[in-house]
Amino acid sequence: MLKEYHIGIDDTDSHEGMCTTYLATLLVDTLENHGVEFLDFPKLVRLNPNIPYKTRGNGAVSISFISTTHQIEKIWDKCIDLVKTHSDIKAKNTDPGLVLQVGKPDPRTKKIYHKALYTVITLAEMKKILKHDFNGRYYSIKKGRGLIGASAAIGVDLYSDYTFEFIAYRDPKQTRSTRMVDEKSVITADKLISLSFGNFDYVHNELMIAPHGPDPVYVGIRGETAKSVIQMWNEIKILEKISSVMLFRSNQHTQPHFPKEFVGEDIKPYFSVKVRGIVKSEPYLINGGHVLFSIDTGKKIINCAAYEPTKKFRKLVRELIRGDELMVYGGVRPASEDYPITINLEQFEIIKLQQPLARIPLKCPQCNTALKSLGQNQGFRCKKCKYQTNEKEIGFQYKKRRLYSGVRYVIPVCAQRHLTKPASRNNTLQFHLPSKDNFQMEFHNFLKKRNNLVNKAFI
Ligand code: ATP
Repeated sequence: MLKEYHIGIDDTDSHEGMCTTYLATLLVDTLENHGVEFLDFPKLVRLNPNIPYKTRGNGAVSISFISTTHQIEKIWDKCIDLVKTHSDIKAKNTDPGLVLQVGKPDPRTKKIYHKALYTVITLAEMKKILKHDFNGRYYSIKKGRGLIGASAAIGVDLYSDYTFEFIAYRDPKQTRSTRMVDEKSVITADKLISLSFGNFDYVHNELMIAPHGPDPVYVGIRGETAKSVIQMWNEIKILEKISSVMLFRSNQHTQPHFPKEFVGEDIKPYFSVKVRGIVKSEPYLINGGHVLFSIDTGKKIINCAAYEPTKKFRKLVRELIRGDELMVYGGVRPASEDYPITINLEQFEIIKLQQPLARIPLKCPQCNTALKSLGQNQGFRCKKCKYQTNEKEIGFQYKKRRLYSGVRYVIPVCAQRHLTKPASRNNTLQFHLPSKDNFQMEFHNFLKKRNNLVNKAFI
């Protein structure tokens, strides 16, 4: 009998190696060999970027397909084998989880997904769901913390907004931190293909598609459409041999992690929060190049920080003055010995700018030099031509501000989290017409040309 299935995987990698997306790629190969009908692209799902036990970007993966009830037994055994052999179990922080859902995703996994985007979920809460009337099964090796991400990946909502990531893998035994990529070709292609984004940080002159860890990812190319990221891959010159490629549909850069406003005691460590407030203490620079200020929400005064890696964004933050009303977005850092609980800024939006007045110096009507005051209520004199006036008032004008109301100020590409919505994505929803049939067909077409994409010549 044919049935719909969803597999979620998480927490298989460590700082020393492995990669959950690579494991998912191997799983797609296995599923293909078992003749399943894929329902969509595999999904690369980013969760709360502030979770302390994440390795890099708090990513989990899910794959949806139709198979026979007979085949699924073999598939499940193969999944377990893959998790056993491709997880860095020795690493203290790696705690893999594998979940198989039979039929449509359980509404409770959808809830877990939405909560996992901005709060901290306990493993007990997760296991309660998986152990009670869950139509499926799960597998873990250690405590099973990965079950949280695996379930959330099954419950992911990629309906109204989503992006794509094309990942090319090098030989998984390769652990060198540098990836040899022709940077010039990336810049040329990036300028040509407008629907692919985040390839290069032009402000800080940094290539963004190649990671720096020991994992098997050679490059990851992000974009609005499947076509744009494949086109980008075809355009860039690669300088290393590729072992495999995969195309994921993702919640990356859609900013689903700020669904609600926080105001006071609800602002908790490791949450992703959006907080409206009025600048209380003006931004100031501290050792290490970090910029700090505070806002008053009406219920709490909360510290905000633009840390050094956010580079030029800090200049914008320093333009804020006391009384400005804004919405800040970021991850909550727990209090330390020296600092209280602090929002690590990802972006801010001006709601209302203060318009402070500045004095306009009076000009000499004879030689246009700025006049000097002779003291309170004693008029002005020109130092140059000695012109004197008894005029006691001086003019005022509004100080020029370099920030604008209604604008979203986002950290630069080089500092962005995977979920951060870059300013370039402000008006891109028109590309996202939901159509399940299309995803199924598009992924099918991708699989057909996958070998050609792997065998792209390298020089
Ligand atoms: P990647 O390297 O693929 O980008 P990651 O490796 O950084 O992702 P993981 O190693 O998967 O992240 O570790 C994240 C762990 O945190 C997983 O065990 C996951 O289940 C768990 N997790 C994710 N989101 C939450 C959440 N909101 N609350 C509690 N646990 C979470």
